Amino acid sequence: MKKIFTVEAIQKSPICVNSGVIENDGVNMTIVKRNGIPYIPGSSLKGKVRYNFSRIVGDKGSHKEKAFCSCPVCLVFGGAGNNQSRIFFDDLVPDERSSGNVGIRYGVAIDRYTKTSNDKFLYTREVAEDFVFKGDISLYYDDKMCHSKKPGCFVYENELLLSIKMIEAIGGGNSSGFGFVELKVREKEVI
Ligand SMILES: [Zn+2]
Repeated sequence: MKKIFTVEAIQKSPICVNSGVIENDGVNMTIVKRNGIPYIPGSSLKGKVRYNFSRIVGDKGSHKEKAFCSCPVCLVFGGAGNNQSRIFFDDLVPDERSSGNVGIRYGVAIDRYTKTSNDKFLYTREVAEDFVFKGDISLYYDDKMCHSKKPGCFVYENELLLSIKMIEAIGGGNSSGFGFVELKVREKEVI
């Protein structure tokens, strides 16, 4: 059985999830895109949720790096020893009702040591602006995740939802004001 949630990421500032690709027009940082349309990779979201979840629940001191690990973080997100993830993140794609666009931001990197700007470090950053990104997260239930016989019970559901809502920023440049989002989660269906 699985429970599916729909997540919406409402942009509060320009986002750049860096693709690592340098395009011909000389932009230093290009955003991840599919057919020219920006998206937020499910893996980026998963990393953030995992980090928040491990801060809230912790590993109860039982995390094992190499052997099969049954600490809460590895049970939910997967871990060593062929421990499969019980949570899956779709990519978040622009909601068709949102009127976002892709733009370019220019900036001057500040030298970490001298604290001065240096025009050798002028950068261009491709950004997504004013989108609402949307996608599904699926939670898979099995005996390990359910301590009661209640249908649809997932032991760490509340902590997971909190870990999602806690996300304030996605992508790079947060210290320069990039990437701020508000996340909304609602239950979609139980299959
Ligand atoms: Zn673990």
